[in-house]
Amino acid sequence: MTLEDRKTQQLLSTLPSVDELLKSPEGAEWLAGYHRKIVVQSVRDVLALVRKNILSGSTFDFDRAAVSADIDRQIRSKASFSLRQVINATGIVLHTNLGRAVLSDRILQNVIAVSSGFSNLEYDLDAGRRGKRHVHTRRLIREVTGAEDAFIVNNNAAAVLLCLNTLAKDRQVIVSRGELVEIGGSFRVPDVMAASNALLREVGTTNKTHLRDYTDAVTDQTALLLKVHQSNYCITGFTEDVPVSELVAVGKRLDLPVMYDLGSGCLLDLRAYGIHSEPSVREIVGAGVDLVTFSGDKLLGGPQGGIIVGKKRYIEQLQKNPLARALRVDKMTIAAFEATFLAYLDERHAIAEIPVLQMLFQQPEEIRSRAIKLANRLKRLVSPQHCNVIKDISKAGGGSLPEIEFTTYAVSIRPDQISVNELERRLRAGTPPIIARIKDNALLLDARTISSRELPLIAAAVASSLG
Ligand SMILES: *Cc1c(COP(=O)(O)O)cnc(C)c1O
Repeated sequence: MTLEDRKTQQLLSTLPSVDELLKSPEGAEWLAGYHRKIVVQSVRDVLALVRKNILSGSTFDFDRAAVSADIDRQIRSKASFSLRQVINATGIVLHTNLGRAVLSDRILQNVIAVSSGFSNLEYDLDAGRRGKRHVHTRRLIREVTGAEDAFIVNNNAAAVLLCLNTLAKDRQVIVSRGELVEIGGSFRVPDVMAASNALLREVGTTNKTHLRDYTDAVTDQTALLLKVHQSNYCITGFTEDVPVSELVAVGKRLDLPVMYDLGSGCLLDLRAYGIHSEPSVREIVGAGVDLVTFSGDKLLGGPQGGIIVGKKRYIEQLQKNPLARALRVDKMTIAAFEATFLAYLDERHAIAEIPVLQMLFQQPEEIRSRAIKLANRLKRLVSPQHCNVIKDISKAGGGSLPEIEFTTYAVSIRPDQISVNELERRLRAGTPPIIARIKDNALLLDARTISSRELPLIAAAVASSLG
């Protein structure tokens, strides 16, 4: 045995056993606070790593305190949920990566009320026999959209898939080339079309599609005229597309259903907020479109879901498709939707209650005042010259209102001891994680998506990350 080997052996022999560590005062504390399996596994993992480092020659001593700290970190990370709350300081209200729409307490209370016990999910209380899960939301959706009938599936992608598969399986669907959109990488109109077994018949060009492009393409193989909201992009300049009303007229004349994938699905008339580019669901339904689909968790501000509204005879066909069962929503979603749609019975009530609408349509002055409060808190904790409030632009996100620039205010921080990327990383690694954005080598904390309640937490996290 070489001297080296002997040293290694000696070092290994000083390592405590799993049992010893569990019986130590720290061990007792861990076991009191966490599940035994997690504690034992963490102790084993850390000891194995120390042993490996000693054998590979990268560790020359054994630091009991450091090992304890490592075990402690392991236990906490193993015991914490993977999916958890984060602070969204990006200013993007509908951030698909951050879970899209935030739900209000009132909506969540209904979810808890319905799912913490049994419910009449598929039970007709009047008749005392089996009922349908879709009756719970149908009346309210009809009321707020003006549609004849309504049906909810798992998300809007599922809604489009179900409609195409039901109405156009092995037959043609006519779509403008300007509307073959991709949303967030995985939803692409041609791909969903293929997956539904409908045949895509593209017409027109990227910038211009005329009514005659549609009518010229109609054959006895045509099943549907489809319009898709461009959602996350705009075509400007020398452009033309066919208004919904004209497409509906052609559909009527040729006896073809017209469907509109509206994407975001706004239930409010946004003209009151100076936004003229986004039609409300009611308007589209009123124009006579046979089937309209939209997301539950974009501008609507509800849970994830795909809402299909339109003519009763088509909705009934959808419900009979076996795919409807595969794409159905659960009771938590239905409970959240019922509470969401209830809020929309009164527009003012919706704006006051739905967090997405509140965050989007709050006055810039309110955002500014929250940014100033955050900056003032920070200036008490860190050297004040590195942080100030700036005016900026934020987007709605989630493929909604792409051309609208919302005035916003953010606290801008330029760290002098660490890089701005390191500051961003430290905030993201915190508990709760804070997601910020970087612009012009400064970290921006956008007050649009930060609540007043989160201000002390954010200030403390930034101060400790800078220190
Ligand atoms: C967002 C969007 C979808 C996908 O909706 P999900 O609810 O995310 O599945 C489909 N079509 C359009 C036009 C969209 O904007």
